Amino acid sequence: MNTAAPLVKPLLEVRDLKQYFPIAMGFFKTALLKAVDGVSFTVQRGETLGLVGESGCGKTTVGRSLLHLYPITGGEVFFNGVKITRETLPAFRRQAQLVFQDPYSSLNPRMTVGDIIAEPIDVHHLCATKQERAERVNELLQVVGLSSEQATRYAHEFSGGQRQRIGIARALASKPEFIVCDEPVSALDVSIQAQVINMLEDLQRRFGLSYLFIAHDLSVVKHISRRIAVMYLGKIVETATSNELHRFPLHPYTQSLLSAVPVPDPQKARAIRRIVLTGDVPSPLRVPSGCPFRTRCARAMPLCAQEEPVFQEAAPEHFAACHLLQKA
Ligand code: SF4
Repeated sequence: MNTAAPLVKPLLEVRDLKQYFPIAMGFFKTALLKAVDGVSFTVQRGETLGLVGESGCGKTTVGRSLLHLYPITGGEVFFNGVKITRETLPAFRRQAQLVFQDPYSSLNPRMTVGDIIAEPIDVHHLCATKQERAERVNELLQVVGLSSEQATRYAHEFSGGQRQRIGIARALASKPEFIVCDEPVSALDVSIQAQVINMLEDLQRRFGLSYLFIAHDLSVVKHISRRIAVMYLGKIVETATSNELHRFPLHPYTQSLLSAVPVPDPQKARAIRRIVLTGDVPSPLRVPSGCPFRTRCARAMPLCAQEEPVFQEAAPEHFAACHLLQKA
């Protein structure tokens, strides 16, 4: 289902994406771990779509699968209206990049920062001469707030925030239109998180970038995202604009995530009723029948065990999958 405003052709469209991993369960037995199970969404040009959910809900797998970092089990990805296939993948790889979660392990300690940033330039043969390559690296360092003298240093000489800037410079090197930001600030100190998010917003305005911004924390994606998609056990259970989702969350899972977001005003904080989820997240190897959230949902009813709720539009640009929508 297309969950974006229908009038504008999206930059990226993901249709019914599936990513299953076979897991050995003993002699001659395998089970399928459904990490991503029928996920669809769009990202408009210049837009940020936030993708949130608890650890293990499949959001990182969505980002990597749509980039075709591993073969997808099912579904289709379209970029600029072109379906990603073996033939169109090389061009897509240049136009769509990834910023990794961990700035400590995602940079090769044996390479200089200049060579790390130049990797996409070399892979896609984007500079004709060494001089041109060096100038481009210097330009990218300055774009992310570092200096050209730092090109000859190694990643361990930099702080976490600076390393993430290096990772962002590397992602920008191929002049992409779209970047998957996979929890880009979750490994950083809170004081540094805002700096990196502000920089990503500046870069978006400057270069017309579109982001899929993955996070486990709704408060992180609230300001940077125009729309937010909430994931649970491999499926998207709600999407809406950031404002609408925060003001009128429809799915009980979204309501519980929002109730856990810290509120700085003590008076407002006291007024918020905290919804504590009961039970553990079920294993993706044994997804509950009907609604996948039913084992932890305080509002579950018999129908929830029998039928999977349809992901449906409840208001303009606001979709959710919950049987309560029929009762509303
Ligand atoms: Fe809860 Fe039922 Fe809605 Fe699922 S469909 S979120 S179990 S009320």
